[in-house]
Amino acid sequence: MRLVGIFGGTFNPIHYGHLHMAQALADALTMDEVKFIPSANPPHKDHVTVAAEHRAAMIKLAIAKNPLFSIDELERNRAGVSYTIDTLISLRQSLGKETALCLMMGSDVFINLDTWHRWQELLDYAHIILVQRPGKPQQALPNQLQTLMHDHYTENRSELSRNHAGLINMQAISALDISATQIRAHLKHGLSVKHLLPEEVAIYIQQHHLYQ
Ligand code: ATP
Repeated sequence: MRLVGIFGGTFNPIHYGHLHMAQALADALTMDEVKFIPSANPPHKDHVTVAAEHRAAMIKLAIAKNPLFSIDELERNRAGVSYTIDTLISLRQSLGKETALCLMMGSDVFINLDTWHRWQELLDYAHIILVQRPGKPQQALPNQLQTLMHDHYTENRSELSRNHAGLINMQAISALDISATQIRAHLKHGLSVKHLLPEEVAIYIQQHHLYQ
């Protein structure tokens, strides 16, 4: 079965932390593809100041030279709040059951998974692959998520490609301590973001006067 990584986020803007995490997980699990899916109207972020069009344009610049990476803007074509469950249902409809979907996320996101819309159904459509995110305080998992981990966890790569969904795996990759929040703050204060994101993205930000 093909193993496809699904990487959702606001990508406001995309940075080396995202790119490194996606590549490291793709390498660790020998994925066939990673789809970046920018959230159009994210339910968990109060105000995303930069339009989905700009965030998608920056992703395209950042991934252009990597044949493993692609962007899917399906959330932009959907009205209302962008719920991951709807995205997974729609991907599953178009890809069928011959593709294992791996929803990739940092530990900072997983810890709040039980607040997501229809979160109990996510594993019906995809696996969840976790990485420990540096620079974020380690918090105890809520009981419901501990149970979810206990019931669905696997260390076995081949199990992931034998099943199209339903498993949780954690990879010990060396994630970079970079966040979009930090980048927006740097830009606001006129500080350099040179080594935090690809140069093409930095040029785009400058040309469009974003995050000023
Ligand atoms: P913000 O600072 O605006 O909250 P962010 O940098 O956390 O943004 P998002 O677009 O919200 O980026 O994150 C999308 C996904 O990428 C999440 O699953 C998050 O855990 C993961 N992620 C973001 N930055 C990193 C990083 N440096 N290393 C590993 N994973 C990351």
